[in-house]
Amino acid sequence: MDLGLKGKVTLVTGGSRGIGKASALALAEEGCNVAICARGKEALDEAAEEIGAKGVEVLAVQADVTKPEDIENFVARAAEKFGRIDILVNNAGTGRLSDLMELPEEEFRYNMDLMLFGLIRCSKEVVPHMRKQGRGRIVNISSIFGKQPGGLVDYDSIKAAVIMFTKDLANYLAKDNILVNAVCPGPIRTFLWEAPGQLGDQLGGMLGMSGQEAITWFAEQNIPLGHHGDPEDIANMVAFLASEKAKFITGQAINVDGGMVKVCV
Ligand code: NAD
Repeated sequence: MDLGLKGKVTLVTGGSRGIGKASALALAEEGCNVAICARGKEALDEAAEEIGAKGVEVLAVQADVTKPEDIENFVARAAEKFGRIDILVNNAGTGRLSDLMELPEEEFRYNMDLMLFGLIRCSKEVVPHMRKQGRGRIVNISSIFGKQPGGLVDYDSIKAAVIMFTKDLANYLAKDNILVNAVCPGPIRTFLWEAPGQLGDQLGGMLGMSGQEAITWFAEQNIPLGHHGDPEDIANMVAFLASEKAKFITGQAINVDGGMVKVCV
């Protein structure tokens, strides 16, 4: 299917690995020029090279989305290089299993800055560009844990707030032909689950098994399809929502989760 994205300009936050990089690659595959940001220069440059190999132009900007000045710089540099901004994928994020009574408030606030205010600020920065063009797409990466609790206390609330912000922003920008949707991934095999000390190991520590064993156990217990998803499973939905094929879809929060969410939301 030709998604009609050739020549469009996409910004992806947290584009150096995982779901962000897969989304950037999927959009590049469709002919989009891509700007990515993340904090670490090395991973960012490697990802930029991989994306550029698709034959599109790439801009990699070191930026921490908890810092408003970094977001302003990222968007300004992308607009300067490409002359337009068509699509924003708000993806940067993190998460860990947390206990309500022990979770430091500073950590909760930091994660809110990262996954909620970072996303709000990025959206506000791109809107003037999209308004000028009379068209735009914003895709926010939320989580199924924004719809049902996942045991990551701060994360669950923040991702729920992302869904409601998505719906409000979609209503607010509908008259400008800027469509705003959220993708709610279920468990996906990325750094977040698989890297040392991350969710797999955290869960394994509680269950008395290795991280990889815990990932398999979790999937068998919770995901009807019986396994985690791949970053590309989310990237395909992102590319579709960014495309002309999705021109009547806005304000939605779409699960891509192997059947994990059971309620009708
Ligand atoms: P990941 O750790 O592989 O990638 C996260 C990306 O965000 C990286 O590029 C990282 O450098 C970047 N990032 C982190 N903090 C940043 C900051 N302060 N400024 C700029 N960039 C920053 O994780 P992932 O699994 O690909 O997660 C991507 C998004 O998907 C996150 O918002 C996450 O909450 C969401 N998500 C992931 C899963 C999952 O199971 N992996 C499930 C649901 C939602």
